[in-house]
Amino acid sequence: MLIHRDIPGLRAALGPWRARSARIALVPTMGALHDGHLSLVAAARAAAEVVVVSIFVNPTQFGPNEDLSRYPRDEAGDLAKLRDAGCDLAWLPTVNAMYPEGSATFVEVRGVSEGFEGAIRPGHFSGVATVCTKLFLQTGADVAAFGEKDWQQLQVVRRAARDLDIPVRILPVPTMREADGLALSSRNRFLSAEERAKAPLLYAALRRAAARIVAGEAAGAVLAEEDAVLRGEGFVPDYLALVEAETLRPLDILSPGCTARVIAAARLGTVRLLDNIPLD
Ligand code: AMP
Repeated sequence: MLIHRDIPGLRAALGPWRARSARIALVPTMGALHDGHLSLVAAARAAAEVVVVSIFVNPTQFGPNEDLSRYPRDEAGDLAKLRDAGCDLAWLPTVNAMYPEGSATFVEVRGVSEGFEGAIRPGHFSGVATVCTKLFLQTGADVAAFGEKDWQQLQVVRRAARDLDIPVRILPVPTMREADGLALSSRNRFLSAEERAKAPLLYAALRRAAARIVAGEAAGAVLAEEDAVLRGEGFVPDYLALVEAETLRPLDILSPGCTARVIAAARLGTVRLLDNIPLD
């Protein structure tokens, strides 16, 4: 597995693959890799001949009061996992390689990035869209794998690639969960034992809500009930919402033929849990 940390090195390494038109798949990550990330690597492996995994804790997507400094980092452990997973090239840009002195260009995605995470974390999706755009252009990836776990992020990135005519196919990968339903996340390690035991209740609430909405109940009442249940268990929900899957437009009733998702974010102690579920 090749490892590169600056753009000239990355471009030189990708050159020979490009010269023989090998398909390149990219998996953008912030490291602290778990089996959810590795399922993205497996999906990338199946979609292309060359797999590039980026590890970059992107400062522009963290707000001033967010957890950039405590974001977990384990480069040696991550590289060992990537070698085992069949990654061809680990792209580990330094902050200076990604944002050289004088960087002044940002990608803003309107609409889909404005509600939910975008409203709670101002500037977050601009940071995400900017870094993903840069990663697409740096690697020239044909395919890029993103987790459905971060549903709004997936839609924001898809919108940015489409609007900027970047010829990359966005490949969504289903959420990997613990046996009890908790979505894998690098931040789960910050849950206390008691919080860890309660954390799966978020997914349980989403499943109950999805079943009732599919059966014809209005989302507003159903989600207000689940919000109260979660608060009773010690969660502080930021939102629970039924949305149109691609645009994140809020819905109350599921109309026939509409692809929808219930999305949620809730704080449990110091950890913010994000999850979502499709409505079939
Ligand atoms: P992160 O390192 O948290 O920025 O995540 C990198 C990528 O992994 C994103 O596309 C996430 O959506 C994806 N991801 C994170 N957790 C999971 C999970 N439990 N299952 C599938 N994909 C995930």
